[in-house]
Amino acid sequence: MKHMTIDMPIVSECLVSECAYNVDMNCHARAITVGNSLHAGCDTFCSGSSHTKAATRMAGVGACKSTDCRFNEDLECMTDSIRVGRVGQEVNCMTYSPR
Ligand code: SF4
Ligand code: SF4
Repeated sequence: MKHMTIDMPIVSECLVSECAYNVDMNCHARAITVGNSLHAGCDTFCSGSSHTKAATRMAGVGACKSTDCRFNEDLECMTDSIRVGRVGQEVNCMTYSPR
């Protein structure tokens, strides 16, 4: 299989084990979307009992709408990798850092 090199930050760890894309504390979505105007949440979070089978794939950060994060440039995340975790009821980008 041919692989494209897409310049995206990776999701190095996600602690939200109940998400359907989570296998062994890693995200296996192709790419996630982070953020709305209120907080840097994982928009791709999908609660479900059946989990993705594409367990070798590493997720990228496709887009981020948290423009008040210092890693955000023109609605994209510019850091190398992010971590995702739960904060209360929210599923958040833990790498978020206010400007
Ligand atoms: S990063 Fe988001 S989509 Fe990926 S496993 Fe975690 S909560 Fe789910
Ligand atoms: S580190 Fe900042 S810019 Fe990158 S995904 Fe998280 S909140 Fe968005």
